[in-house]
Formats: sequence, structure tokens, C-alpha cells
Amino acid sequence: MKTRAAVLWGLHEKWEVEEVDLDPPKAAEVMVKLTASGLCHSDEHLVTGDIPIPFPVVGGHEGAGVVVEVGPGVTEVAEGDHVVMSFLPACGRCSYCARGMTNLCEVGAAVVLGPQLDGTYRFHARGEEVGQMCLLGTFSEYTVVPVASTIKIDDDIPLDKAALVGCGVTTGYGSVVRTGEIKAGDTVVVMGVGGIGASAVQAGRIAGARYVVAVDPVEFKREMAQELGATHVAADADEAWEIVADLTRGQYADACIISTDVAEGSYIAPALSLVGKRGRVVVTAIGHPDEMSIAANLFELTLYEKQIRGSLFGSSNAQHDIPRLLELYRLGLLKLDELITREYSLENVNAGYDDMKAGRNIRGLIRY
Ligand SMILES: [Zn+2]
Ligand SMILES: [Zn+2]
Repeated sequence: MKTRAAVLWGLHEKWEVEEVDLDPPKAAEVMVKLTASGLCHSDEHLVTGDIPIPFPVVGGHEGAGVVVEVGPGVTEVAEGDHVVMSFLPACGRCSYCARGMTNLCEVGAAVVLGPQLDGTYRFHARGEEVGQMCLLGTFSEYTVVPVASTIKIDDDIPLDKAALVGCGVTTGYGSVVRTGEIKAGDTVVVMGVGGIGASAVQAGRIAGARYVVAVDPVEFKREMAQELGATHVAADADEAWEIVADLTRGQYADACIISTDVAEGSYIAPALSLVGKRGRVVVTAIGHPDEMSIAANLFELTLYEKQIRGSLFGSSNAQHDIPRLLELYRLGLLKLDELITREYSLENVNAGYDDMKAGRNIRGLIRY
């Protein structure tokens, strides 16, 4: 069939919205008609090369929609089911899945290769095979994805809001409550209030943290953080340090989440200075693949038992956490509508990324 998709043909190029060919689903795959796709920063990483991926590629990895066709042998979902697409597939059988670490599933290695899990391509354009970001390619009216990347959700959940839970919301929430292990009465600092950071702030509130300190240089993002549950805001790490030192009487935070646009080695030292004894620095933002150096006070690292933890998808288990987060949304505890700053048509995907880079969006959303 024919569909319209945003394709990236090379480094530092614009997304090209064009008609492409889409093959039907093969075994263990489903075709999804997209309702909406979030504009997550990680697709910008494809443009800059911070996430290396073969070109051409259909972008987008944060989406939700309706299953319109299932491939041979698929029993987990059926035509008409509403699904969120997880940016990481989970096979359910590998050593990591068996231990409840589905975010680290072995098939996850395929998310930046391009083709589907069997090594063949579903999208074709201009006589070439076209890969899919995270096996998904949600910048397309229709896509074919592994059933291992789908999470069936209740029909009454609005799919445009549910789209955000496929990456950013779950990542931010999990960074705080799973990787960061924030519990009632704790103090958490969130550095960078984009789609992930805004969800991390909410996680701090939902988990019962006594102080949630949001750090962002952009005033409107600090205001948004306060609406979502930040008890205090700061424009930079130095200002946050003064606030946290005072609030905690020098004990500092239990966790500091780095949810900036890109992770830099230089962010680690200020984040470490914001956490106290046995405090966790959670690195959720993605660093450059060749970044090898971080600054850290080794003396304090040992004597205060500070920890630096990487966080992929917020250490979440999508099949459990995504329906659970949508229940929190239904109960009014987790805010999703407020995260969507602007909506775009697929044709305007580049404008959406311009707005993101200029700091104008918590989350931009493509609505189909
Ligand atoms: Zn993402
Ligand atoms: Zn697995």
C-alpha cells in the first residue's frame, strides 16, 4: 500500500514528507494506523548523528494508533485493538526479559539498525529500502511494527495522549521512581524540563517526594514544571544547589535526573554535587557516542557512596508500566494533555523540531 511518511535521507538534512510504499505485516508483526506521534528529541539525534542509524529512515518512535492488520501467527493483539508503540521491543523470553528487565531486552539492539527484526524492510521509496526508527517509524500515517513493540491499551484512553507514553512520559517517570528509586519524603532534582523532565517532575509528585526541584534556563518551562508539581525551580545548577542545600539542611537530594537535550560529561559533576550520601545521579539524556570523559569528585563518590546510573526507558517494563501510567492519567494524577504544547501536521514536522530546538515546546505532537 501507499502511505505518507517523513523520511530522513542523510545527516544534517531536513525530514522529507513523501509518499512511500509499505509492505503488509510478516510473521510476528502488525500494521498500525497512527493517531498521533510525539516529537521526541531522539529523532533529532538521527539528524545530528548522535544516534548513528543507516539512511534512509522513517523517523518517529513515540506513537499510538489502531491495529488494522496482523501478520501470520499474531495472537497478542487483533484488528481494531488500540495500541501504544514502545520504542523498545520486548521478546519476553531472553535472559533480561526473564529477569524483569524488558527495557534491556536482547532484541532492543535492533532499534537503530533500520530493518525489521527479520532483517528485511517494510518501507520503500525512490527505489530504495527505507529503515524505521526504533523498528517503528511513527512519522507515517501507517506503519508495520513487531508485535513485541506493541502494548494493548483500553479503548477509552485518548490515543493522542497515549502516544506520549511510548517514550518520553514512561522514560521520565521511570527515571525517578525506578532508576532513581525516589520514595515518599525524598528530594529529587530534575535537570531539564522537556517531555522527559516534565514527566519526571510529575513522578516526583506522584511518588510523594517532599521537594521536587526543577532546573531549566527557559522561564516557560520552569512555570510548566511548577504547574506539574515542582515545589521549587531554578534557572541553573548553581541556583539549584543553593536551594537544595537550604531545603535539606545540607543533606542534599536523594536523586538528580539529567533530562537535558543531550548529556554532556560536564553535567555529571554539578549533578553529583546536588545529591547527598548514597544519592543517585540518573543519566537519562543520551550522550555523544564518542564521549569518554566525565568530571566527578572521586573522594565524595566513595566517602558519600554517591552513584551514577544510566537509565534506558526509565528502567521500565513497558507491558506493565504503560497501562499503569494510563490509569494514573485516567485518575487525574498524571497529566498528559498539559505536556502537548503545540500540534503539527506531518507536513510540518520540521517546524516542530525548530520549535523544540528553540525551547518553545514541552512536547510537540503530530496528529494524523
Ligand atoms: Zn524518545
Ligand atoms: Zn527479551
